[in-house]
Amino acid sequence: MKKLYAVIGNPIGHSMSPIMHNDLFSFYQIDASYLPFQIKSEDLKDAVDGFKAIGIGGFNVTVPHKTAIIPLLDEVDELAASIGAVNTVVNENGRLKGYNTDGPGFLKGLQAFMSGAASKKILLIGAGGAARAIYFTLAMEKPDAIDIANRTVAKAQSLIDDCPYSVKSEACTLDEAGRKLGEYDLVVQTTSIGMAPKIADQPLDLSNIKKHSHVCDIIYNPLETKLLQDASNRGANVQNGIDMFVYQGALAFEKWTGIFPDVERMRENVLKQLGGLHVNR
Ligand code: NAP
Repeated sequence: MKKLYAVIGNPIGHSMSPIMHNDLFSFYQIDASYLPFQIKSEDLKDAVDGFKAIGIGGFNVTVPHKTAIIPLLDEVDELAASIGAVNTVVNENGRLKGYNTDGPGFLKGLQAFMSGAASKKILLIGAGGAARAIYFTLAMEKPDAIDIANRTVAKAQSLIDDCPYSVKSEACTLDEAGRKLGEYDLVVQTTSIGMAPKIADQPLDLSNIKKHSHVCDIIYNPLETKLLQDASNRGANVQNGIDMFVYQGALAFEKWTGIFPDVERMRENVLKQLGGLHVNR
């Protein structure tokens, strides 16, 4: 019988996950369909119970349900529990288990592009949901340090205080981070600054950037943010958010099917939807 997979969120119409996963199911000749469902917060419990009742194979969870879903699941793995957010659920013999593949997806994308980047001195810009998943995952890699710059410095400090993995970290303002930018080998931009339609915005001044450092912006709309253009003009290696998106999906697909999929195929498919070119260089 055909298996069902899904993504739930609100809104959900913009999600590229159905196109990406349906293509993989067809490519690997797996009899399954992946559908988007727009679920209101007040209907989340009913949706999860319904998925369980119909024996869903698994599903992705996106904004605004990544945290609210946790108490509705039978089990949550250790990393997702520490992050406090689930983006992938697997039906394991009738029990729904939650995972977080956002942080690991970011890390895998980073490692595919540049080995060793996660071991150096890192600046994380932003302290929201995506930053939390990335910070906890990078902390497990034991880099020299991960400082966090955020508009609201108290949020950066709580992220540091909440992290169960030991890593040298300081919280600072965006201006302070700009002044000491020359200390960092890797800069990871996780705020929504620069995302369409406000594509002329940039979170900090890059005048002090270290030569040949690596700058990742997890935004992929636009494919090249103002920050990445600026970093590239100053000689940094740049990477956009496509890799994080594709690898979080690849890790979810692997959890559901046991197959680690062809990420180049996934990347091309996503880029085709976005109608652009891959800017990493
Ligand atoms: P979030 O939880 O709402 O966090 C937003 C972050 O942006 C916070 O650090 C916030 O600072 C900062 N921010 C927002 N507007 C700002 C402004 N005008 N000035 C300064 N700082 C501002 O959002 P999220 O879920 O982490 O998502 C953040 C971005 O990551 C979005 O662009 C999203 O599309 C992207 N993303 C990409 C992927 C991927 O797969 N590539 C996955 C997830 C998210 P405060 O704490 O001061 O409010």
